[in-house]
Amino acid sequence: MSILERPLRGAVRTGVGGLTVDDVAVGDGGHLKRIVYPPGWRWSTHMQPVTGGERCMHAHVGMLVQGRIEIEYADGCREAFDAPAAVVVVPGHDGWVVGDEPAVLVQYDCGADTVERLRLPSSHRHD
Ligand SMILES: [Zn+2]
Repeated sequence: MSILERPLRGAVRTGVGGLTVDDVAVGDGGHLKRIVYPPGWRWSTHMQPVTGGERCMHAHVGMLVQGRIEIEYADGCREAFDAPAAVVVVPGHDGWVVGDEPAVLVQYDCGADTVERLRLPSSHRHD
C-alpha cells in the first residue's frame, strides 16, 4: 500500500460500502477525511445498497491525491479526476474508480450541512 493509504494517527477509522474512511473532527461540525476507494468500486454497486437512493447525495470538496475517479450526474454529464486533482462534486451523482490503483481522496466536509456551510450548489445544473 502506498504511504497515502496508511493508517492516519488521530483519526477514527470506519469501513462502509467497501470504503475505508479516516475521519478527524475539525472545529464545529467539520470533518477532515481521507477516503480510500478500492479498484472496481462504484457507488451504485457498493454504496447504494447501504445508503439507498438513486445517487450519492453528498457533496465532495477536496484533493484527489492518488488514482483516478469518474463521476456522472443524472443528466449524463461526466467529470474525470486524475490525481493530483482538486475535486468539487455536488450532490446527485454516481461515481467509480478508474484503473487498478486505489483512489485516495482527502476531503473536508460538514456532514449533512456541507452544501450550506461551504456555499455549494445543491445540485448539478447548467447556468
Ligand atoms: Zn450537466
